[in-house]
Amino acid sequence: TKREGFSAIPNVKWEDVGALGSLQKCLEFFISRRIKHPEDYEMLGLDMDTGFLLYGPPGCGKTLVAKAVANDAQANFIYVKGPELLNKYVGESEHSVRALFARARSCSPCIIFFDELDALAPRRGTDGNAVAERVLNQLLSEMDGSDKRKGIFLIGATNRPDMIDPAVLRPGRLGKLLYIPLPDGEGRLSILKTLTARKPISSDVDLLSIAVNKLCEGLSGADLAALVNEACIVGLQEKCLTSTSSSTGEELQPLLIHSRHFDMALS
Ligand code: ATP
Repeated sequence: TKREGFSAIPNVKWEDVGALGSLQKCLEFFISRRIKHPEDYEMLGLDMDTGFLLYGPPGCGKTLVAKAVANDAQANFIYVKGPELLNKYVGESEHSVRALFARARSCSPCIIFFDELDALAPRRGTDGNAVAERVLNQLLSEMDGSDKRKGIFLIGATNRPDMIDPAVLRPGRLGKLLYIPLPDGEGRLSILKTLTARKPISSDVDLLSIAVNKLCEGLSGADLAALVNEACIVGLQEKCLTSTSSSTGEELQPLLIHSRHFDMALS
């Protein structure tokens, strides 16, 4: 559920995220551990990033990661969809940016997640879109108030980092850039494991052979989620068809998703 501007602690856990172990370590160090144990960081008087940009191809876990960080830190999560914030009535967008940060201050510790940041903070060009420029300036000034921003972490997400105005990516703003790539075979296996962990999967399903199957090359996490979903639909359909054709009316076989269901989903 992606309700804009709604804040709550998300229920995504790190165990729901596959393939991104080193990113997890980094974000734990920079965000969740810092929220949970501020004393170490304060004692050293560290000047550390509080703004991050997750970039990379679609469907590889940017939103998922941001939510897992918030859950781990037990921090509120404010979801902002870039294009929506910008498309408010003239003058409204700047007000929305101010209101957003005001609300973040009232529910800190919190994470503001800017999805599709390229739409909210596009590179200033020669065409001079005045509304976009005012919104961008408002955003930059809110990002800069580091005292006011205590306990507020910012995570932006984009597939197009080159389209974002470089001023947004300076130190003190979204200064730390983190790439989330398409998974390789090992990554796909890890993602398939997390996606199937709580499903009734038969022992005849070999996730490794699915992960390294030629047909899975180049698939994103979202594609793999669609594949698992499809295999489950095929398995459920098969069970429904066989149980309605039996006259006893009793549910004899338990619902299990088999290797053949994955084969059909893949074909
Ligand atoms: P977009 O750029 O399109 O917004 P995104 O990178 O934010 O995509 P998510 O929304 O996090 O991608 O992922 C979409 C879905 O794909 C997730 O809800 C999850 O089911 C699955 N998924 C993607 N990446 C992973 C991953 N690394 N581990 C487990 N599931 C994943």
